[in-house]
Amino acid sequence: MLQTKLPKVGTTIFTVMSQMAAEHKAVNLGQGFPDFAVPQRLVDELDRAMRDGHNQYAPMTGVPALRQAIAAKALACYGAQVDTDAEITVTSGATEAIFNAIHAVVRPGEEVVVLDPAYDCYEPAIDLAGAKAVHVPMDPRTFAVDWSRVQAAITPKTRMLMVNSPHNPSGAMFGEADLRALADILRGTDIFLLSDEVYEHIVFDGRRHESALRYPELRERAFVVSSFGKTYHCTGWKIGYAIAPPALSAEFRKVHQYNVFCSFAPAQHAFAAMIRDEPEHYEQLGAFYQAKRDHFREQLLATKLKPLPVPGGYFQLVDYSAVSDLPDLEFVKWLTVEHGVTAIPLSPFYENPPAGQRLARLCFAKNPATLDAAIERLKKL
Ligand code: PMP
Ligand code: GLN
Repeated sequence: MLQTKLPKVGTTIFTVMSQMAAEHKAVNLGQGFPDFAVPQRLVDELDRAMRDGHNQYAPMTGVPALRQAIAAKALACYGAQVDTDAEITVTSGATEAIFNAIHAVVRPGEEVVVLDPAYDCYEPAIDLAGAKAVHVPMDPRTFAVDWSRVQAAITPKTRMLMVNSPHNPSGAMFGEADLRALADILRGTDIFLLSDEVYEHIVFDGRRHESALRYPELRERAFVVSSFGKTYHCTGWKIGYAIAPPALSAEFRKVHQYNVFCSFAPAQHAFAAMIRDEPEHYEQLGAFYQAKRDHFREQLLATKLKPLPVPGGYFQLVDYSAVSDLPDLEFVKWLTVEHGVTAIPLSPFYENPPAGQRLARLCFAKNPATLDAAIERLKKL
């Protein structure tokens, strides 16, 4: 008889809500993806790469020009010296990188500390490794991390700690003090760090992204993961990467090699050219999204939804308690069916959702017309 290895896994909330949005012709602010165009230069470069014949297997670790561009960006953005050959691996999205990192170093019976609300792909990868996710909740309102609770969750079995800043779903960002607290906890242990930084360039109000790459003490035990899907408005291309010290990268690559071997070659050439020739794109991404955030928040004031602060990322959390007392999953379904706007509930991001939390996530990586259409509907709540 088939006995599932992943009894807790069903269809992801992102798929469920996108399907529901399509069925009910709702404005889909649920699943996080932009509804505007990829930069023209990137499309041209992809076209060129395919026409130039870059259509066969890429090197297992990634196209050299792309790894060089990633190394140059890590130096420019975070002052990190990264070895192009030994420390960077290009992957099929951040999702693959996260899976590889966990499987590279976490053994059956070990523990991985995750901070709730946590992105949905973390725990299934931990489960498949035969390990156990140990969930530490963030503050249910501010999404700050109580590092003393993280410290208390560490046991002799802890092999990895996973963090995500800017954070999905809340948009919360680590400050320098968070990284220092993290370093204090990890110092003198054998615990690896997985730093999920896919929203690294979507930061607002002059805040600095505290990449683990800035902190040598963290970097020496870290897999730093990012994704071009977020930075270049192309979530469907699924290209990301992991930066890790040589010994960690070597283990990571053993998994990558037999998981996918290599990722879509033409896009790697396109990103290499794009990063090298137009750094303005990622340098200005924060300002680009900040304008969207500000406009959307201002419009939300005309509704009964209360927007929470958004330091980074492209999600707006709203408190809907003035509209409904439904639990969040029921609320977002009701909102889709009855009001034609789709959001994502927070409870699927938790092991134990905080009692009475009445928050939903709206994605503002959308054209003005999409956001305006959503607001018109939300005003009627
Ligand atoms: N981590 C976080 C926090 C994310 O939000 C996402 C995607 N939205 C990913 C990882 C996965 O990225 P990718 O689509 O490149 O696999
Ligand atoms: N990361 C996206 C989000 O948070 C969803 C990705 C997916 O659908 N798997 O909305």
